[in-house]
Amino acid sequence: MMDNLTRATIHLMARRTNTQLSETHWRVLEYAYAYYKQNRVGPLYRNIERHANVARNILNQIFPRGLYSVYGWLNIPIHSSDDIPCKPAVNIRVEDYQEVFLDHNATTYLRKEVRVALHDFLDDQNSFANPSSSSTSAQKIYRLIEQSRRRVARCLGVNSQEIVFTSGGSESINLAIKGSALNYLSCPGHIITSVTEHSAVLASVSFLEKLGFNVTYLPVDTDGRVNPQRLIEEIRPNTQLVAIMAANNEIGVINPLAEIGAICRNAGIPLMVDAVQAFAKIPLYPRAWGISFLALSGHKLYGPKGIGALYIADGQSLMPLIHGGEQEGGRRAGTENVLGILGLGLAAKLAQREMLVESERLTRLRNYLLQRLQAIEPDLIVNGSLLHRLPNNLNVGFPGIDSGSLLLSLDRIGIAVSVGSACHAGGDETSHVIRALGIDTDHYGIVRFSLGLQTTESDLNYLLRYLPKILSDLRNIK
Ligand code: PLP
Repeated sequence: MMDNLTRATIHLMARRTNTQLSETHWRVLEYAYAYYKQNRVGPLYRNIERHANVARNILNQIFPRGLYSVYGWLNIPIHSSDDIPCKPAVNIRVEDYQEVFLDHNATTYLRKEVRVALHDFLDDQNSFANPSSSSTSAQKIYRLIEQSRRRVARCLGVNSQEIVFTSGGSESINLAIKGSALNYLSCPGHIITSVTEHSAVLASVSFLEKLGFNVTYLPVDTDGRVNPQRLIEEIRPNTQLVAIMAANNEIGVINPLAEIGAICRNAGIPLMVDAVQAFAKIPLYPRAWGISFLALSGHKLYGPKGIGALYIADGQSLMPLIHGGEQEGGRRAGTENVLGILGLGLAAKLAQREMLVESERLTRLRNYLLQRLQAIEPDLIVNGSLLHRLPNNLNVGFPGIDSGSLLLSLDRIGIAVSVGSACHAGGDETSHVIRALGIDTDHYGIVRFSLGLQTTESDLNYLLRYLPKILSDLRNIK
């Protein structure tokens, strides 16, 4: 039985949100309350559907914020605590516990060579010098920065003067999009991007919409790729920028950049490419492909976090977003993040050197994982093109499984993967990328496995050993 305080809170919340409490509201709330008391976690949509007989779409209609309101009004925690996960998870303990990191599209660790190099640099008592000063130690630091710039430039086959260091992928993207739009503030025109871009792109163009720019969001095909023909159709006389990502962070799908670049070049429109996921994983040819701006980030390639770079093709004009000193050729003020720059330069050099071999190794491992997953789960779906995909990415849908619950269960045996969001109530915050593919997320729990430098077949076998039990236990959670 629900206590009086909870009832009073519900009435209060209903008044605040202008919600007329009906018998259906109470049925959901009573059930969710009892479920929480028994399980110490809130129910998922499908539990409510099955046991309180209220469908997900009805629940979302009658509560102002869907399952969030149900949780909020009943004071059910949405986020995990150490011992109580935000969603039902399988109670599993294993003898051979291992830490297996399968989330390299989210971020990567500092690789050993970079760690050692940065350590050595910090141990040098002159390493604190400001590269803009004229002392001998400062000049040495300046030369190290320029060496890193050349290393990054070499990966792209461009001049080192075309590389600007920033604080990461997000800043590089903001600089390219807003910096070039600032040239048109007096006559805001048209920008084309795609629906599956990273939020750094989507939020930047949406900000520009508020300043009077028009934005077209290209759809993607069912394989997750932008169709170049659609781009041609959407170009207008006043199109000022096209922003299309090289490879998607969730599904790893690679866009046809050579074709997109050729279209932009022929139309005389700058093309900005978010290559945060693709850089040093697949070959990129900004010059040949007609790319004007290309963003990359250190922490996706075993370099430090908080460092990135933007390629700005010679002749492209762009207003700085950070004003001050003349660092980075006047395109990004501020005393340089020397440690980050050195780490990025070395990480880029190493990644470039081993790209082909590592790409083949990862493709083999990824295909092995897929094959074994399909044997465990014949109705598994693969999200996005397998053919045009980063070698290390596998994004799949498990039928009848809540992805947050799967993530939390895997975490209990030391395996890190990604889902849209583990702890959004009921998983109703579906990723915009998965939605763009038209996937039925009521039916499929979406999980991204992303492999990396240290991933071995034995890591995957550890996952595959326990996955069948986890899936079957999750299906049995009432
Ligand atoms: N673009 C893509 C495709 C990404 O995956 C990310 C990071 O997740 C970013 C941009 C943002 O990069 P950063 O974390 O370096 O700001």
